[in-house]
Amino acid sequence: MHRKVLRFCLYCGAAFEKKHIEGRSRLVCTQCKEIHYQNPFPAATALVLNRHNQILLGKRAVEPAKGAWCLPGGFIEFDETMEQAALRELLEETGLKGEIVSFVGCFYQKSTYYGGVIIFGYRVEAVHGETCAGDDMEELMYCSLERLPPIAFDSHCKLIARLQEQLKI
Ligand SMILES: [Zn+2]
Repeated sequence: MHRKVLRFCLYCGAAFEKKHIEGRSRLVCTQCKEIHYQNPFPAATALVLNRHNQILLGKRAVEPAKGAWCLPGGFIEFDETMEQAALRELLEETGLKGEIVSFVGCFYQKSTYYGGVIIFGYRVEAVHGETCAGDDMEELMYCSLERLPPIAFDSHCKLIARLQEQLKI
């Protein structure tokens, strides 16, 4: 599925026109002259290990990458920190309440769906709850870091690799 294109100004509803501004083609409102800046979407993920050092993965029930495995996570709401978003998404998608242990890394990912996404990854300790797949997930599993299934997003692969480096230190 491809990215949807905005056709009308979000503020006044008038049509956009394309203009060359600051070295790029940008959408500008023909009425109120608001420039529609497009930025990467910020997202947060939780890297949860069980006591056997297996990582928690979810099988995606929604596009993009429906049917592929990924880390629990999602977009950051406007009034949330990255850490709050990682913990909220973990709870929504897996039923687990967690606590932040450490920052793992941050990666940019090009997305045909969203344009670009910036993903913050946190190591999270599950402190409460039973795993139960939420609406966005078909099923959940703890998986050995040595025998991972194909992962939906390159940025999630990088986060898992970064975590493995950190575990060795
Ligand atoms: Zn406008």
